[in-house]
Amino acid sequence: MPPTPRTLGAGPCTEAVPERHLAAPPTRSLRPRRVVTDRRGGRSSSPYDAFNLGGHVGDDPDDVAANRARLARELRVDPGALVWMEQVHGAGVAVVEGRQAGPPPAVDALVTAEPGLVLCVLVADCVPVLLADPVAGVVAAVHAGREGVRQGVVTAALGAMVDLGARPADVQALLGPAVCGADYEVPRAMQVQVARVARDAAVRSRTGTPALDLRAGLAQVLRGAGVGQVVTDPRCTVEDRRLFSHRRDGVTGRQAGVVWLDAA
Ligand SMILES: [Zn+2]
Repeated sequence: MPPTPRTLGAGPCTEAVPERHLAAPPTRSLRPRRVVTDRRGGRSSSPYDAFNLGGHVGDDPDDVAANRARLARELRVDPGALVWMEQVHGAGVAVVEGRQAGPPPAVDALVTAEPGLVLCVLVADCVPVLLADPVAGVVAAVHAGREGVRQGVVTAALGAMVDLGARPADVQALLGPAVCGADYEVPRAMQVQVARVARDAAVRSRTGTPALDLRAGLAQVLRGAGVGQVVTDPRCTVEDRRLFSHRRDGVTGRQAGVVWLDAA
């Protein structure tokens, strides 16, 4: 099938504009954008090769800065608009209303209703959860590993979004690449702890031992909270060598999940 050409100016795209928008300009005309990076195209050397965006993993800070600058360039956003986190595997949420001088300390979720603020979560097996309510104009980036899932970080982020006017039914969730259930063997007691919060996370590994599919658990939690759309990126970080995986490689880099509201 030939690629669909992007339509610019007059043409079919004018049909897509609802008439009410022509009669009265919308107060908000914001498009949520969501991006997940991979290893390719950056400046970092092994074992961080090449597009490492994590600043806490032992990589050369100059290389990380260059990679982050490249991320901003490719997303066509201002580098100063990127907001990072000091992730601690907890359930803390920071609501950000403007540019940050540094990462808000010790949180695992960022929420904003501010257009153009670019929220970033760093991962290398944990689940990057990108939430967007395009109607209310509220987005969130969440770092959800085993501990975060157990502590309810995604539910906390959704609650902060609702406080800013989001409606769960309007929220679209993207669960980015992460370790799959087959590759995430855990002790049974740990599986039980997580399954108390996210029942569907309890699965079997490739060899039949207790394991966790965090994305299956999170999808269940999100749907249970009334989230209207949950999409899972099927890629497994352990199996796909284009992605960073701490479980596979130990010392390595981090990819990013990125979400922001773009002025349409
Ligand atoms: Zn896997």
